[in-house]
Amino acid sequence: MKIALIAHDGKKADMVHFLSGFKERLHAADVDLVATGTTGSHIQKAGFEVERLLSGPYGGDAQIAAMAAQKELAMVVFFRDPLDKHPHEPDVQMLMRICDVHNIPLATNPASAELMFKALTQT
Ligand code: PGA
Repeated sequence: MKIALIAHDGKKADMVHFLSGFKERLHAADVDLVATGTTGSHIQKAGFEVERLLSGPYGGDAQIAAMAAQKELAMVVFFRDPLDKHPHEPDVQMLMRICDVHNIPLATNPASAELMFKALTQT
């Protein structure tokens, strides 16, 4: 199963912290991680294997949306920063819309991500 991870700059530390709490579960459930470029480099530095796509503003969100549309993703974790502006806001909206169109679980904050992760990685 493949899970996509995206975190805006103000939320990248939250993403690493969140994942660190699930390290063993992710391994046990044989989860593949894919992430936008900069989020992915933070995750890699924390010791996770992750496929890195383009940086979000350069098309990474759109790449993840395409994967969601092709039913390649079990879940999308998208820690948006609601207190900041983003030049690629149209892509952000598009990704969330595609998740809804295709009924892909989408977590936009750690509390919802934790509930979904636990359900998905139950062994
Ligand atoms: P980034 O992209 O991981 O390359 O920073 C995330 C985003 O801003 O959508």
